[in-house]
Amino acid sequence: MRLLLISDIHANWEALEAVLWLAPPYEQVANLGDAVGYGASPNEVVERLRALPAIHVRGNHDVCCAGLEEPLGFNPTAARAARWTRRALSEDCQRWLRELPMGPVHGRLCKGTQFVHGSPLDEFDYLDSSYAALEVLQATRASLTFFGHTHVPAVYARARRGVEELELPVESDDGVQCKRLQLESGTRYVINPGSVGQPRDGEWRAAFALYDSQTREICFYRVPYDVALAQQKILAAGLPSRLALRLAQGL
Ligand code: ZN
Repeated sequence: MRLLLISDIHANWEALEAVLWLAPPYEQVANLGDAVGYGASPNEVVERLRALPAIHVRGNHDVCCAGLEEPLGFNPTAARAARWTRRALSEDCQRWLRELPMGPVHGRLCKGTQFVHGSPLDEFDYLDSSYAALEVLQATRASLTFFGHTHVPAVYARARRGVEELELPVESDDGVQCKRLQLESGTRYVINPGSVGQPRDGEWRAAFALYDSQTREICFYRVPYDVALAQQKILAAGLPSRLALRLAQGL
């Protein structure tokens, strides 16, 4: 089964469209949360996601934008964007976001796989170090854990003496890029496909991954999209200008 892994779209319609257009064939999608918040196209993104054959997990921005929680722990820019998104969302899209499941969600088609936004230990924890990955691997049994939330692609592998973080170098150019990785059977992994709509690893292109459960191969992609149009929509919506600027910097 070929599984398209997408996360942290953040209402960036242009990035999501580019990903779905340029992605190789897949049978199922796993959306790892934060479909909305920051970007200017929350309804369009939700409608598109609803039409996909997908597993969904809720993110912290989904929760706030759906009105389930107040954005109290958010910085002022994120809180302003969450309040704007709440007003912009249709009742129907808001309801869909409210009903998203809390992670971890276990893969029905890919056995031994779990999907979370932050971490299986706490849905909104940041899994951003080998130490955090080791805690997850010690506390859970899934052979593959897919997560988002940090907006940075990452692969942690259970090694004999702890956890190894595998290198995912990004070459700066304007084209489509793919990094292939063969997963070893018997090794357990914790994997982040990166962010579709607001990458934060210094690279502006949209990130996603494709996992093939038959060959156990995973490919990490970077694809260009119309970032100028996404920025224009953010500014036209009256959202904080920093949210437009950062898209071009990948920060
Ligand atoms: Zn996010």
